[in-house]
Amino acid sequence: MTANDGETQEWQKCAHCGRAIPAMPRYPRAICDVCCALLTDASGRRVAFVNEDAFGGLTGFYVGTEPPEPYLLHECFIGAAVFHAQEGRFGGVVVQADLP
Ligand SMILES: [Zn+2]
Repeated sequence: MTANDGETQEWQKCAHCGRAIPAMPRYPRAICDVCCALLTDASGRRVAFVNEDAFGGLTGFYVGTEPPEPYLLHECFIGAAVFHAQEGRFGGVVVQADLP
């Protein structure tokens, strides 16, 4: 996420917990950092996503594994809720709730 350019800050709600997050019109179903820290694979293991390198790309891995164990899917979960990680348009990682 980059700082905005002095525009009035607008907010949207995290698609999972409802916490206010900076508005991302391209990603109306994005979730907040708190929820991102709760993401797991289908079996409940914690996963996280990072950019592959300075040029972007998206890599998932299992949190707490060393060396990091790759998580090859972009689908992730918080309980029964399903989410998808994607590379942000301007870098970074955006995780959005799946449509019901
Ligand atoms: Zn949230």
